[in-house]
Amino acid sequence: MSTVTILDVLRTKRDGGELSDEQIRWFIAGYTEGRVAHEQASALLMAIVWRGLSSRELATWTAAMVATGVRLDLSSVGRPTVDKHSTGGVGDKVSLALCPLVAACGAAVPQLSGRGLGHTGGTLDKMESIPGWRARLRRAEFLVQLREVGAVICAAGDDLAPADRLLYALRDVTATVESIPLIASSIMSKKIAEGTGALVLDVKVGSGAFLPEVDRARNLAATMVGLGEASGVRTAALLTDMSTPLGRTAGNALEVAEAVEVLAGGGPADVVELTVTLARVMCELAGLDADPAEVLARGRAMDEWRAMVRAQGGDPDAARPTAAHVERVAAGADGWLVGLDARKVGEAAWRLGAGRARRDDPVDAAAGVVWHAVRGERVASAQVLFELHTGDAARLPGALEALDGAAVVHGSPVTPVPLVLERIG
Ligand code: URA
Repeated sequence: MSTVTILDVLRTKRDGGELSDEQIRWFIAGYTEGRVAHEQASALLMAIVWRGLSSRELATWTAAMVATGVRLDLSSVGRPTVDKHSTGGVGDKVSLALCPLVAACGAAVPQLSGRGLGHTGGTLDKMESIPGWRARLRRAEFLVQLREVGAVICAAGDDLAPADRLLYALRDVTATVESIPLIASSIMSKKIAEGTGALVLDVKVGSGAFLPEVDRARNLAATMVGLGEASGVRTAALLTDMSTPLGRTAGNALEVAEAVEVLAGGGPADVVELTVTLARVMCELAGLDADPAEVLARGRAMDEWRAMVRAQGGDPDAARPTAAHVERVAAGADGWLVGLDARKVGEAAWRLGAGRARRDDPVDAAAGVVWHAVRGERVASAQVLFELHTGDAARLPGALEALDGAAVVHGSPVTPVPLVLERIG
């Protein structure tokens, strides 16, 4: 019989002490099973925001979250498994091309993904703009597709780290999301439970990122790499720039179109660079001797994409939704585009209907923003810089307001910012 009490747990963390392994396991299991009250769990989360968790506490906290559900066994898949997680960026459609690319290199890629909340889009929302495509797979279907096709993007089942769903919902309403140990354990508990053998983390830095400052992003990356390695998942992280959005589109169907361009051998240079760079690290961690750039150039990733979409009921050749209203905005000045603010562009796409405010809100598959110049390019005053796509014209004024000041045009060019800033692990 446990002698742990919630008041001891709260007092210990409130006063800056360390929780025992028993206290942590008791709390996580107790909250998941409804034996700890929301107000008591909220108090502990707030104490953790202020006091943090030691590395021992964090490892136990994360393992306890994994233990609230199943940890998948992917050993029957017959290929090395490797996944990627991004902390979320504006216009970040990289997973769509990366998953089939790495599968075409010989790995199995179990991308259990989520829906978007806030100014960055979710991978499932993007894929759902493909007619017929199904996000929910039964566990047996998931394993068969992983073995036979290699690439799967689908919804994580409710039995993977259920503690995270409850804790995340509570953090969302108690201003306790922005804590490095809480973010790291939330992300890594789901990835460890997924059963992948290796994992590459794309940790975004800059205005459009979840943690904009580089020091905090680096700390998060190192913390997650440590958690992955301690759980037997070969893990590496790249810090990548998110001060400007990726590619030239933000919005669900718009981003699918851009990912398909990449798979066809074209697409924006930054999306191609990030996709190929992440694919190289994934292949390295999976022990595969493949050249992703060559696999992409030979069209094998496109074949894999088509098989992946079809396996989940989607038609890769079907027309995707287009917006009823398209508003064009001119650059308004001659010169060089020296800044394009990722957060403002993401906010505009969200206001147009591409994202949701609450977890169950619907999204407009056709909504989003297209930008016709990227940082470092020349623009002319009358040139169309932005296109705003939406199914609801009443959303246009709010989106235009969000874009105010997003583009900065100067008389001289700027030094380019590297896309991949550093690697950890
Ligand atoms: N994404 C997650 O899955 N969890 C967090 O805490 C933050 C971002």
